[in-house]
Amino acid sequence: MRPSADELDSLIIDDSTCLVNLAHFGIPQFAEVFPDNYKQDWRKLPREIPDDFVREFGHWCGEHGVKGKYSIVPYPAMVGWVDRVLPGWTKQELEASLKLVRELMMPNWDIHPEMVSHTRGIDTKTGRPYPEATAAFMENWGFSVGMSVDQMADYVAYGLRILKNAGLECEGMTTPGGFGSRSMESLAQGTLQACRDVYGTQIPHYFRDLYTDDRSVAPLVQYASDLETDNPKCVVSIIGCTGDWLGSSAARATGWAAGTAWNAARWISTLQRTCRAGGCHRSSAAENRRSSSATGRACISTVRRWASTSSRRSSAVLKPATIT
Ligand SMILES: [Zn+2]
Repeated sequence: MRPSADELDSLIIDDSTCLVNLAHFGIPQFAEVFPDNYKQDWRKLPREIPDDFVREFGHWCGEHGVKGKYSIVPYPAMVGWVDRVLPGWTKQELEASLKLVRELMMPNWDIHPEMVSHTRGIDTKTGRPYPEATAAFMENWGFSVGMSVDQMADYVAYGLRILKNAGLECEGMTTPGGFGSRSMESLAQGTLQACRDVYGTQIPHYFRDLYTDDRSVAPLVQYASDLETDNPKCVVSIIGCTGDWLGSSAARATGWAAGTAWNAARWISTLQRTCRAGGCHRSSAAENRRSSSATGRACISTVRRWASTSSRRSSAVLKPATIT
């Protein structure tokens, strides 16, 4: 299950959104809570992830059959709303960026909200962040602790609705950092409820965990019910099988840094080097068979969309910035 792969065909891309470089805007918010941990000079990081970069990368992926998951943080670092206004960019620039995601990315990529802001927890009744700038009120850390299923569903649905308003189709969501790690049951059931409520998704899924040890990374079907009816339900946990190779530490190791100019060719060559270095894993045919039988008919479409069922599946988790 864990041999290195030299060919990439599935990626889990976190922390992406339209135009806003989450690192530039998010790091000062993280630093307010953890001043010792976020000492990066965020002012030197570019404020924008240019659409030209996304376009070049998206075309490369299309030409090479690379598919996967692509986050669109709905209210990125509280800069603005992707369905309404992004202060710092014109309405035309926001619309063009969304169009690019719809037309180039959406056919091959599952679009996920990565919670709401990826920084501060948001009061869904007012749209404002809670006043406390503490770990307990940060999405990445304690905000989800103690959430009931209904509270989780409300929060997930809040992010999904923004993407729906922006004309993006979603069948699942991604958790930022440690979100949900201490509320796993609410996370799964809340995602199931929210995706069904907002999009009528048949088989909602979410990405929270990645295992780089010997545990199976076959998609995990949870809370299956009403299987004998016309309306069976379940939620699928999609599990990553490699660490974050293009985020912080690996980025430094490979010479990539968020402060360098956005250059898709360079990023792609880093990806390819990462794969050759064993950063991506290929599942065996046997594992895919196990995966299919374990997950059952219900999640086949999800599995198919995430990763080809050939024996050459590989995946890498990557982030364009230096946050989790
Ligand atoms: Zn993230």
